[in-house]
Amino acid sequence: MITPLPVRVIPGAEEAMDSYIERVAAANALAIGPFTHHLKRLSGATLRFLNAAPAPALVATLAILTQTPPPALRQLTLSRYEVMPTIENTHRYGARAASAKGWFSLIRTQACPACVGEGQPWASRWRLPWVVACLRHSCLLVTRCSGCRIKLRSTRLQGLRASGFSTLCGNPRAPGRVPQCEHDLGTETRVPAGAATLNQQQAVLEALRGEVVLCHGEPVPGAEYLRRMRSIAVLLIHIAAISPASGLPGWALQVRVEARARTKERGPRWGVSAPDCPELRAEVFLIAHQILAGSVGVGRGALNAWLDLVPPSNEGSRAWAKDHTTTPDAISYLIG
Ligand SMILES: [Zn+2]
Ligand SMILES: [Zn+2]
Repeated sequence: MITPLPVRVIPGAEEAMDSYIERVAAANALAIGPFTHHLKRLSGATLRFLNAAPAPALVATLAILTQTPPPALRQLTLSRYEVMPTIENTHRYGARAASAKGWFSLIRTQACPACVGEGQPWASRWRLPWVVACLRHSCLLVTRCSGCRIKLRSTRLQGLRASGFSTLCGNPRAPGRVPQCEHDLGTETRVPAGAATLNQQQAVLEALRGEVVLCHGEPVPGAEYLRRMRSIAVLLIHIAAISPASGLPGWALQVRVEARARTKERGPRWGVSAPDCPELRAEVFLIAHQILAGSVGVGRGALNAWLDLVPPSNEGSRAWAKDHTTTPDAISYLIG
C-alpha cells in the first residue's frame, strides 16, 4: 500500500511536472535523488518523457503520494496542448523519435528569470519554442544559465534538478567541483520585450489555451494559428540561413551564426529544433504574425518577397518552400 506524503502540494495552473515534483519533495523535506528512486520503485516505471508523456503507472503512483487526481497531474505535461504531437510512452520509442515530431523540448527548458526569482513554479509552456516572453514581467525568457553557460535543466533526471526546487540553476557540473551549478537564475539580466512581441505572445497564449485566434480577420482554432506560425517561421529561418542577400535584418545574420554552430547536424532541422535564442525567435514570430494579421493577398506578397531571396534552383521557389517548412499544407495558400 502506498502512503500519501504528509504535506500536500497543489499544482500550479500552468506548472511543469519537473517543477511540481521538486516542490513536492521540498515541502516534504525529501531530496530529489531518493524521492525519484522511491517513485520509480513504487510505480515500477521510469521517469521517461516525464514532462511530455509520463508512464501511466508513474502518474498513478504520484497521484496517491500527492493526493492529486491523475487528470490534474496530466495537466502538468506538454500533452495538455493540442498542438503537441501524440507521444507514446513505450520502450521501443526513442527520445530522438519523439523529439523529431515537433517543436518542444522533452528535458531542457526556457524560463522567465523574474518568475524564477520570485520562486514561482516553472511553466510547462516554457518548453515550447512559440513562447519567447513572460507576459507578467514583460521580459524575454532565457534559455541558458550565465553561470555554467549550459541550457536550463540539462539534467539526467528528465529536467529534475538534484539540488531541488530553488532559484539556483542546479545543472550538473564537472566532477571534482561543486556538484551542481549554484548560479542564482533570479539574477539573470531581464531583457524587456517590446509591445509588438507582447501582443504576439498574447495570441500564442490564447492559442495554447485552445481559444480561437484571428488570421486574416477570420477566427481559426488556436492550434491552427500555431501550426501556421511554425510553418512560416521555419521557412523564414531557412531562407535567412541560405540566402546570399545582403542587408538582411540582424536576426537573419544570427541564424547564420547558429547554423554554423550546429554543423554536427546535416543541415539544421529548424522545424524539429527551433533556434535557441528567444530574441531571434521573437523577431521571426513578429514577421510571421504580421503575415497572418493582414489580408491573404498582403500576407502572400510579404512571404513571396522573402522567397525571392532564395537562390534560383531547378525545383522553383514554391517547391523549395514546401521542402523547407513544417506542415506545408497549413501555409500553401500563402506561397506562389
Ligand atoms: Zn515572469
Ligand atoms: Zn548554471
